[in-house]
Amino acid sequence: MEPRYISTRGGVEPVDFLSAVMMGLADDGGLLLPSEMPDVTQELSSWRKLDYPSLAYEVMSRFIGSAIPEADFRGLIARSYATFDVAEVVPVKQVGGVFIAELFHGPTLAFKDVALQFLGNLFEYQLARTGGRLNILGATSGDTGSAAIHGVRGKAGIDIFIMFPEGRVSPLQERQMTTVPDPNVHCIAIKGTFDDGQRTMKSVFNDIAFKHKFSLGAVNSVNWARVLAQVVYYFWASFRVTETTGASLVQVTVPTGNFGDIFAGYVAKKMGAPISRLVLATNENDILSRFFNTGVYSQGAVSPTLSPSMDIQVASNFERYLYYRLGKNPEKVREAMATFAKEKSLTVPGSDPDFAAGRGDTESTLATIAKYYREAGYILDPHTAVGVSVAEKNLREGEPMVCLATAHPAKFSAAITRALGADLAHHPTLEALKTLPTRKVLLEPTVETIENYMAEVLHL
Ligand SMILES: *Cc1c(COP(=O)(O)O)cnc(C)c1O
Repeated sequence: MEPRYISTRGGVEPVDFLSAVMMGLADDGGLLLPSEMPDVTQELSSWRKLDYPSLAYEVMSRFIGSAIPEADFRGLIARSYATFDVAEVVPVKQVGGVFIAELFHGPTLAFKDVALQFLGNLFEYQLARTGGRLNILGATSGDTGSAAIHGVRGKAGIDIFIMFPEGRVSPLQERQMTTVPDPNVHCIAIKGTFDDGQRTMKSVFNDIAFKHKFSLGAVNSVNWARVLAQVVYYFWASFRVTETTGASLVQVTVPTGNFGDIFAGYVAKKMGAPISRLVLATNENDILSRFFNTGVYSQGAVSPTLSPSMDIQVASNFERYLYYRLGKNPEKVREAMATFAKEKSLTVPGSDPDFAAGRGDTESTLATIAKYYREAGYILDPHTAVGVSVAEKNLREGEPMVCLATAHPAKFSAAITRALGADLAHHPTLEALKTLPTRKVLLEPTVETIENYMAEVLHL
């Protein structure tokens, strides 16, 4: 059976993989999901022996079917991970009492490269086959924007527009976007928060006439191809750690913002990856950790923290999880989302044994960075440190803890300096950015302003 994709809200005819990827957000305002989750428990012992690109092929091809011929797809994966600076792509290291899966070896030094290098190549491949054009619109709290830009810079048939909250991303994160000279890259600083940007983006995508006229595509974590590429490293890391320790299952802790990364872990677990439980870690913006501990998903105000890529109160991928939690019932999802839109809060009874959750505040983030440096000589970035601090409270006998390391510490030198008393984390890629010229425009986060700007740039 060919994989088919449905909307969480039930209002879209089932589509194939490439249509799902090109659609981004579903046309009914929901999110796309595979209609069936493949069960791969029979494959695990052979998959353990594979290198990263081969494993990526096996995991992802289950969701792609015949949409892309095997040789093309293997080539596409090879190109996507050749830009990483280590052969393993995702090294897994024992550090103190936990295992760190380093997801930051791509061009922008954050885990989003794992998905966005792949997505850029996928878009390019598909546009070359169809002769189409694509205009990507994204909203970022920091890392998505630069990873998306580096995924598509210079690619034919693609323009990319990235909104980021002015003054709320780290100076280096901003430079990783605004120093890219390719003419298909357009950086938009918005006067507002990340949530303002995300809401504006969703509204532009909900303007169906505009979406079609401008061939709009998404790279935010709502795009199914991004989730899919992230599923791979849950298998990879759990294989490495079960091999090293002899344990049969591992826990995985995930520093969480938009629920994209951890949703990929949920998919991997559903498919049969050797994972006992996912540990969700948030910073002070804790809507998700509150949800998993109380059943109430209620929006607070966004407060800036040391881990800006997790400064999110409305998690765009949460609806995908909700679909499963509400018994795969689109009607219930529509109701829940309508309640949330009206009341900024929704409640789901019961709990989910697949998840534990906790929050790491500024103090524990700094203390965790200091502790791991002191005891293991390893520098955690502040996002990873939020995860590790929550992981330490959720250790279980006989189930090794894998902590996803989502960024290189050199991206967040202010936090590192605060934690360690000196700016000890460096990376040559970032040093090189400091002297390059930058480009951006400053705009209001309204649908009209953004649509007008795109029309002007694209002469449409
Ligand atoms: C995006 C990001 C996160 C959060 O990931 P989500 O998929 O949004 O939950 C965590 N850490 C870093 C460094 C990130 O860039």
